[in-house]
Amino acid sequence: MHKHTQLYIDGTWVAPAGSGLAEVLNPATEQAIGQVPLGDERDVERAVQAARGAFPAWAATPASVRAGYIQALAAQLEARGDEMAALITAELGMPVQWCRSIQVDGPLEGLRHYAELAALMDEVREVGNSLVIREPVGVCAFINPWNYPLHQLLGKLAPALAAGCTVVVKPSQETPLHAFLLAQMIEAIGLPAGVFNLVSGPGAKVGEALAKHPLVDMVSFTGSTGAGVRVAQAAAPSVKRVCLELGGKSALLIAEDADLAAAVRYGVQDVMLNSGQTCTALTRMLLPASRYAEALELAVAETASLRLGDPLDPESFLGPMCSAGQLRTVRDYIRIGEEEGARLLCGGVAVPSGLERGFYQLPTLFADVDNRMRIAQEEIFGPVLCLIPYADEVQAVQLANDSPFGLSSGVWAGTPERALGLARQLRAGQCFINGAAFNYRAPFGGYKQSGNGREWGEEGLAEFVEIKAVQC
Ligand code: NAD
Repeated sequence: MHKHTQLYIDGTWVAPAGSGLAEVLNPATEQAIGQVPLGDERDVERAVQAARGAFPAWAATPASVRAGYIQALAAQLEARGDEMAALITAELGMPVQWCRSIQVDGPLEGLRHYAELAALMDEVREVGNSLVIREPVGVCAFINPWNYPLHQLLGKLAPALAAGCTVVVKPSQETPLHAFLLAQMIEAIGLPAGVFNLVSGPGAKVGEALAKHPLVDMVSFTGSTGAGVRVAQAAAPSVKRVCLELGGKSALLIAEDADLAAAVRYGVQDVMLNSGQTCTALTRMLLPASRYAEALELAVAETASLRLGDPLDPESFLGPMCSAGQLRTVRDYIRIGEEEGARLLCGGVAVPSGLERGFYQLPTLFADVDNRMRIAQEEIFGPVLCLIPYADEVQAVQLANDSPFGLSSGVWAGTPERALGLARQLRAGQCFINGAAFNYRAPFGGYKQSGNGREWGEEGLAEFVEIKAVQC
């Protein structure tokens, strides 16, 4: 049991003002594996005051010294990486086959990059009689989801520390344990008191109190579009900076000249990874009508080859959904898809045999999907892939862009030139060509209702920077 009864505020573990503890379940077993405090507005107040108090000295700390703390944190995380990965597998359900590399090593690489980028804070640009200098935004609140919990936390924390900001972190209630482990690492590296503060608790209470707090200069939120809108509304009266990283319904455009077997295989695996609980998942596969029947066969065969099961089994590709609520949402959408007239190729709402305990969902494919159907327009956040035929590339691009979201996209084509030509036409913050890898040095974020900020890379640092022009 990971039993946490205290919050990390002002460099020390303190008893929460809020009463009660929230249980954390292992979604594979439905057993409690931990507890964290249910903080409230008084804990937020204490944490924000601590962050405010620590800000002037931290902002004035040389960037090279801040970079040293980032490196020390990276060393801690590397040394305790297996422990972190095991914890995330236990609280999220992501199989061990993926958890260390995707949930720990990837964000660790991004963290290290910010030790290098911290030096940018010292750069001064001369424009005529002005010196343009960079300064940290101030006190930042981070509100995070549960699906890639450490990735989301470090995507905000690393640039904030590099810039010289102080922070208050609110993890998701489903997966808070990784944040407590990270706080232990922060304590171990001796980060100055008040620079990092951790308050767990419900979004509507702790998240809302952070978003509206007048002494918080910036709120960086990752989560659903609905909650993001509420955070922006709560933040508006104090005119704080708001960075939103929201949902998606991304398309994979497979061109007529693509290697169909490779493209379909990639597309199916992309959606089934983390049981579909990936904001960038390419959940709409756009296929040339001339090759549609062949693609359906390939997709069904690929899906059948992916093992659903215990996340501790090294052969499992998919684990359980993160929570009972998420499982219900996914099954509701599958029923909606059938009512809308989409053709269920495999999967569905049945309980997978032998997996009666745990929040397991069968990987599901829908064919004959019209892009205007709800299952093609709304984020399901589960292992559900819509296969949509198109007549020509003009229509394919139009279908890809016919979405309220614009987080990610993919193109698979026979030549790099053709793929790049298509990628440029897609209204999304990311595009993955022919199965290219995620890049922690490049900016990440969404168009349209997928958000308004960028994380990772230099653009991720810019989110935490104020620009001052000094005329001389
Ligand atoms: P969610 O919106 O339910 O919760 C996210 C966080 O917001 C949680 O910590 C929650 O407690 C908090 N919260 C909820 N209501 C709040 C309120 N009124 N005020 C302040 N805080 C509040 O999302 P989730 O179910 O945890 O995560 C899944 C969603 O996150 C999906 O939509 C997914 O696409 C999105 N996501 C986006 C990205 C991205 O980078 N764009 C990355 C991962 C996940």
